[in-house]
Amino acid sequence: MINKKNTNDQWGIKSAGVHIIAVENCTNSCEFCSTSAPFAGKQSYSASSFFPWLDRLFGDTPNPFKDTYIAITGGEPFLHDNIFLFIDEMKKRYPLKKVGVTTNFYWASETKIRDVAPLLKSLGDILISKYPSTVSRIGGEEKFDELVLLLKYLCPHLDVEVTPMINTFIKWDFHTDRQAVLNACCTAFCYMLKADGKLFRCSLAYGLAHRPEYGAIQDLTPERYFDLSKGLDGFSEWSSKYPIDLCQHCTFWKHEFSVWKNFSE
Ligand code: SF4
Ligand code: SF4
Repeated sequence: MINKKNTNDQWGIKSAGVHIIAVENCTNSCEFCSTSAPFAGKQSYSASSFFPWLDRLFGDTPNPFKDTYIAITGGEPFLHDNIFLFIDEMKKRYPLKKVGVTTNFYWASETKIRDVAPLLKSLGDILISKYPSTVSRIGGEEKFDELVLLLKYLCPHLDVEVTPMINTFIKWDFHTDRQAVLNACCTAFCYMLKADGKLFRCSLAYGLAHRPEYGAIQDLTPERYFDLSKGLDGFSEWSSKYPIDLCQHCTFWKHEFSVWKNFSE
């Protein structure tokens, strides 16, 4: 039975849809990476490995995913051996769904964008996170913005959105003691799907798996994921609950900010 005080209705948090983890690792090493990609192994997955779980999520059972779009993410999805085939296969399987991808744009150059543009026909939107390291490598803000404009020009069908990560980052930590959750969390319904059928409730819940130093907290927080390979019993209650047990061990809902730092530099 759902305690109504603990649902997203009460907190006013909107679902951010289902994020497909196509690649676990990344080119950056951001200090407060929510998915802990700097600690993940080099691993990527085929589009078809997600189909059994997406079929279930987009099926007839009433659930918050029927009207959501598909966001391909990581890590850094463009590290995939063939991200373009991945996108095409996803769109072919779910033709009524908008398919988007997130990227830190590490691959951007005029030549590469011209090569890539014709391969993005199945893509609906691209969310570019703008990090200082990428801006610097590309040659500055003006050059970065020029490349974004070139991508928009060559792919007029594509919604291109740039999120500046220049100054701040939400910092987070986990603590073993349980604390009352007093605020909404921006990533509370940012579901992350792994190829094995585990659907994580938020990016930090997924990233926790890469952090053995927080192993004790993993044992205390079974609500951090729902195993779709075992069916959908209890899914509706799980998918609308906030806070979950992990929130009581997490600082993310406190919205504390830190200067962005790439700790590999
Ligand atoms: S660019 Fe994004 S995925 Fe990569 S380490 Fe930074 S926050 Fe994580
Ligand atoms: S506060 Fe809860 S929903 Fe937000 S990141 Fe932490 S565990 Fe996830």
